Amino acid sequence: MLVCPLRMRRFRRVCVYCGSSNQVDDKWRETARAMAKSLAQRGLGVVFGGGSVGLMGALADAALAQGAEVIGVIPKKLLDLELGHRGVTELVVVETMHERKHRMAELSDAFVALPGGWGTLEEIFEVTTWTQLGYHEKPVGLLNAHGYYDSLAAFLDQATELGFIRRPHRPILQIAPDADELLERLYRVELPRLDGAVLRGPSGP
Ligand code: AMP
Repeated sequence: MLVCPLRMRRFRRVCVYCGSSNQVDDKWRETARAMAKSLAQRGLGVVFGGGSVGLMGALADAALAQGAEVIGVIPKKLLDLELGHRGVTELVVVETMHERKHRMAELSDAFVALPGGWGTLEEIFEVTTWTQLGYHEKPVGLLNAHGYYDSLAAFLDQATELGFIRRPHRPILQIAPDADELLERLYRVELPRLDGAVLRGPSGP
């Protein structure tokens, strides 16, 4: 396996995926605010889904209050549903969900998921597979605040044990309990480069 020889990456912006639900305890909004603070303290811009609902709104408001650049990317259709955030540095309105994800990835140097639901999970796994397949070489992290992702982390370990996630690819998705630790890991994680031998494995053609 070839390993990217980076010691410490440089980021300009980090993409944050997070839940849009308002039906959650306030402690999760606090988690989003803590992530915003860590990013702002490092001088990093934030790319997010552009809504003002749920953790998305808390993240954007806190990042703006800390003076960070905040770019929201939202499809036209969701502008009303997710209450497009009007106070951000830039609100990019796109036509489709696919365009949203593509634009968010293009604008960002790394990705993190805070606690969230279907959308958050879909988005973080998609960019993880893009790193696995070499469509980009960007690190990906899961913020396991208050143990929210404990059972998912255990499942990913099981998938690795069983060989469905290739062992060299397991570190692509870093998991940490707080924002500072997660960001530090993303600066340093050694990402596997796409390698046919790793993809095919010993029993491949
Ligand atoms: P959720 O985690 O379900 O609360 O969703 C968080 C965010 O992900 C919301 O802004 C959703 O619009 C967004 N989302 C949901 N599904 C997708 C998808 N397939 N592609 C991109 N964003 C999505």
